[in-house]
Amino acid sequence: MKPCVAVFSFTCCEGCSLAILECENELLDVLNLVTFVRWREAMTETSDDIDIAFVDGSISTHSDVRKIKQIREMAKMVIPIGACAYNAGVNALKNKYGMGEVKEIVYGAEGAQFDTIPVRPISAVIPVEFALPGCPIDREEFLHAVRDLVLGKTPRLSNSPLCSECKRLGNVCVFWKGMKCMGPVARAGCNAICPSNGDYCEACRGFVDDPNVDSHKETLAEHGLSPQELMNDFRLFNSYDDSQIA
Ligand code: SF4
Ligand code: SF4
Ligand code: SF4
Repeated sequence: MKPCVAVFSFTCCEGCSLAILECENELLDVLNLVTFVRWREAMTETSDDIDIAFVDGSISTHSDVRKIKQIREMAKMVIPIGACAYNAGVNALKNKYGMGEVKEIVYGAEGAQFDTIPVRPISAVIPVEFALPGCPIDREEFLHAVRDLVLGKTPRLSNSPLCSECKRLGNVCVFWKGMKCMGPVARAGCNAICPSNGDYCEACRGFVDDPNVDSHKETLAEHGLSPQELMNDFRLFNSYDDSQIA
């Protein structure tokens, strides 16, 4: 029997669940391993018999809290996918404001009726078995994770800083082009796609578990910067919790 898989979305652009659909050729490999039983973007059928629930998006309303708890009861495994689900991603920027202020900014005088609470990643609300970072997820990493989960193994994320991946690819460091980059503390695993294309890294995959903060500070000092100045520019994906590198 193939495991039954469902895909659910919470507060997000749903780009990560869409990234699964965009696996194209590899999607056939995934379909050989699992049976999708519930996925609003891809099918009309629904089922509550779920072995693995992939979830994109953050928890940002009381109704999100109720729904994710129901999913936890239904599914044997819950796997957050993408930055919004992994560490609250861009949604956590909302937490800088009071909820009353947020409602008024977005909805004006009618805002009071809307259900909104400070944003949390999935793992801050329910226990999860594993989580995939990235905005959006890396498709290859997703496929590896599916294979591991089906085999009963816990998938593993790279725990190296992005700089190691970037240097292995022979990229010229963007610091030497006058740009800033989160590479020294960002979690690798995306093939350093942004620096490889001439851009900086904003750490959309979050930070390595134990960032080398001293080396990070040294690199920044060489370019006249401090970690806090860098975070002020790169708060987009890591504002929920930047205590590891602050
Ligand atoms: S992580 Fe990025 S691509 Fe994925 S759902 Fe959130 S905003 Fe969209
Ligand atoms: S471009 Fe970024 S990731 Fe690449 S070596 Fe420089 S700091 Fe590290
Ligand atoms: S290079 Fe950085 S910002 Fe770009 S995908 Fe990788 S982790 Fe995300």
